Amino acid sequence: MSAAGDSAALPGAPHLARRDGELQLEGHALAELARQHGTPLYAYSRGAMRAALAAYQRALMGRPHLICYAMKANSNLAVLQTFAEAGCGFDIVSAGELARVQAAGGRAERIVFSGVGKRRDEMALALEAGVRCFNVESQGELRVLDEVARAHGVRAPMSLRVNPDVDAGTHPYISTGLKSNKFGVAHGEALAAYRLAASLPGLRIEGIDCHIGSQITQIEPYLDALDRLLDLVESVEALGIPLHHVDVGGGLGITYTDESPPAADVLVGRLLSRMDARGHGHREVLLEPGRSLVGNAGVLVTEVLYLKLGEVTNFCIVDAAMNDLTRPALYDAYMGIEPCRMRGDAVRQRWDVVGPVCESGDWLGRQRDLAVAVGDKLAILSAGAYGMAMASNYNTRPRAAEVMVDGPVVHLIREREKPRDLYAGERLIPH
Ligand SMILES: *Cc1c(COP(=O)(O)O)cnc(C)c1O
Repeated sequence: MSAAGDSAALPGAPHLARRDGELQLEGHALAELARQHGTPLYAYSRGAMRAALAAYQRALMGRPHLICYAMKANSNLAVLQTFAEAGCGFDIVSAGELARVQAAGGRAERIVFSGVGKRRDEMALALEAGVRCFNVESQGELRVLDEVARAHGVRAPMSLRVNPDVDAGTHPYISTGLKSNKFGVAHGEALAAYRLAASLPGLRIEGIDCHIGSQITQIEPYLDALDRLLDLVESVEALGIPLHHVDVGGGLGITYTDESPPAADVLVGRLLSRMDARGHGHREVLLEPGRSLVGNAGVLVTEVLYLKLGEVTNFCIVDAAMNDLTRPALYDAYMGIEPCRMRGDAVRQRWDVVGPVCESGDWLGRQRDLAVAVGDKLAILSAGAYGMAMASNYNTRPRAAEVMVDGPVVHLIREREKPRDLYAGERLIPH
């Protein structure tokens, strides 16, 4: 990215390009969006989200399938609406997420309910809504779900989340398919769990599922996990318990720097071929992608507040912080950082890009070569997933505004919080 006048897409983000020195999202200059809406500002491309979903849909055409967007990646109502309108379902992990899907116009029969710690009241709400499937993660949960369903006079549709014990080759915090992880029923325990489920009158067995981790950039862990699932499907059916669907979870990675994950249609194509080869081509396929549907569709725009030159490190202090974007602090994650407007007059220097929060862990990028001046706007790339969704109010910092660019139109999809919103539910103690 260099001289003015060029036009180039950024890695992994075809809806983001630099034209005449200006970084643009679907043709809208990010510096201008920041001027209109203030900073920190999350900006998303609706076209990028639709295109990411379409890649999965293309690969699944002609097959019985359901794509359930793992909405914890980005749960803004307008994002959910965009996917719901495109025929997508949702993978939820709480009653709060259920309420969001309902508020966004999503259909309950396209919801799967995941999570290792579902409460009875959450199960009841999901049953009343009529969700498609509960992804159950333990024998204890089977018994509780059975009780809640019977109390409601219904049978709960369920699938067992099996831990296939494969290494997704990703960060330990986002690897979920190993024996040592808290998620799912161990592979060796799965048959017993299905037998138990079949004996409980409040349950209706629908399928099997797994989810082996996040930011996975290889196809092999998926194929290994699928093989382990299909082995189980065959054993479970041999017990006389039919399984309808196979849910292979989410986890496909995106490009933050130099990763080259498989394209969604390539991955899905490989999974379907493996199912065909093993005689399971007739089964309905469920997928739960999160990051890969939204990650590269969004950026976080921030303003440079101060430049602090040091003996060892130069600090570029910006107005976004770890409360706005936690991934660097939490996972030591690399996120690309680009000036919204190239400037010819500042020299490139090496900076640690940090926020105003009172923690040394509050950094967004380390050792970045940038030509910046105070007042410039920077874009943190690939921030559409696990960005705003993980934002907090630490340091009583109001959460950022969010905008969705949709062709020529820019929609404000979340107002910037005000400090009084943050303490509205708090109470002083009477004297
Ligand atoms: C988080 C999660 C996903 C989505 O993971 P991504 O890496 O965002 O694709 C899918 N399924 C379950 C059960 C999850 O917990």
